[in-house]
Amino acid sequence: MSAPGHLYDAALERASTRAREWLAALPDRPIPPRQDADGVLASLGGPLPDGPIDPADVIDLLADGVEPGLMAMGSGRFFGWVIGGTLPAALGADWLTSAWDQNNGMRFATPGTVAAEEAAATWVLDLLGLPDTADVGFVTGGTMANFTGLAAARQQVLENVGWDLDRLGLSGAPRVRVLVGAERHITIDLALRYLGLGEPQVVPADDQGRISADALGAALDGAEVPTIVCLQAGNLHSGAFDPLGAACDLAHEHGAWVHVDGAFGLWAAASPHLRHLVDGHDGADSWATDAHKTLNVPYDCGIVVVAHPDALRKAMGAQSSYLVRTEGPGDPLEKVPELSRRARGVPVWAALRSLGRSGVSDLVDLLAHNAGALAKGIADIDGAEIVNDVVFTQVCATFGDDSRTREVTARLLADGTAWMSGSRWRDRDVLRVSVSNWSTDDNDVAASVDAVRRAAT
Ligand SMILES: *Cc1c(COP(=O)(O)O)cnc(C)c1O
Repeated sequence: MSAPGHLYDAALERASTRAREWLAALPDRPIPPRQDADGVLASLGGPLPDGPIDPADVIDLLADGVEPGLMAMGSGRFFGWVIGGTLPAALGADWLTSAWDQNNGMRFATPGTVAAEEAAATWVLDLLGLPDTADVGFVTGGTMANFTGLAAARQQVLENVGWDLDRLGLSGAPRVRVLVGAERHITIDLALRYLGLGEPQVVPADDQGRISADALGAALDGAEVPTIVCLQAGNLHSGAFDPLGAACDLAHEHGAWVHVDGAFGLWAAASPHLRHLVDGHDGADSWATDAHKTLNVPYDCGIVVVAHPDALRKAMGAQSSYLVRTEGPGDPLEKVPELSRRARGVPVWAALRSLGRSGVSDLVDLLAHNAGALAKGIADIDGAEIVNDVVFTQVCATFGDDSRTREVTARLLADGTAWMSGSRWRDRDVLRVSVSNWSTDDNDVAASVDAVRRAAT
């Protein structure tokens, strides 16, 4: 007999109360955690207690113990790394996804949540301007989206030269050449390592971190070997976009597969005002993006899109390759590394249904607008300099020499009003701003600029 529904009531009510208290406190709470991990461990850790306790009490123990160690990443004044917030509909849908607890691998077994993901996938392709015949997989994040897209790429470029990867593996295979821009994201290298493809060949980038199309063309000339070209839509520091259309054309002239890492930047395609940034992106062969960044669904949710379903399903499908189906929507397990997984595309459906087409476009525009406003506010501070062209959601500032920039960053973080990462870009220490939260408003921007000014004077 399964557990009667009312046995869940107390724990869920307690969780709902604690969640709402946390969310309500976000707008005013200092951003940094009050306690480090060792401090939290002191209350949550120790030997495993002998017996059971009440589920609702577990929720309180957990919330009481963890809360001092929470970073207010959902705050409108959090601009660290590239961290999205959570849209209300997406959070509600995420809870429901947990309650439904579907093993979302197969269409016939969990038709409800698989269909919600398929609907979301169709909307994503439409919004991002990608081919409607492409396959979509919902993975944990950008890292796994890059891995999955590049696995399909590896499968295809080796098949193109007659190498049977499934049967023979990589040992003795022709070397796959992978070309990347000098400022690709570190997870591209990580994915290549997972895939046994080794270190990529690095193509120089310009002063904004965009891959140089000329240098790419030169690198592609010569021996025709299995080749994958990795491009980027949205540079971590500058927000800049590689020249996607030109680079895709060059790569395809040489028979290469093109993969685009657009973890946060691919969403520029959803805005009529910003779409020009990704011009020609639809010519690539695979794309990786996150839903937990620009789209503001809860962690963890990345999206891989592959223009050649056959290659993706051969790389990821659990059945042997001679059984691969190329017709129809296919099963989720054919498009992602996992067999069993949560229906993590359901919150994407909810986010998109709550925003609609204009809402997604407005969200992307708002993030870029706030980045511009922060850049302008910071530029007006004595001694501050914005060192990138602010084209999207990323801003890098300096405050004199490296040691002074580091000092300003440390003071800002200690102040706690706003949170921005310190980083190094183009051989300089920078204060790095990433605007990724749907709830950031003019007050947040003004308060954050004031905090930077206090830290800089
Ligand atoms: C965040 C990011 C990734 C990695 O995504 P995760 O969701 O953290 O796994 C890859 N590429 C770029 C450009 C990113 O910003």
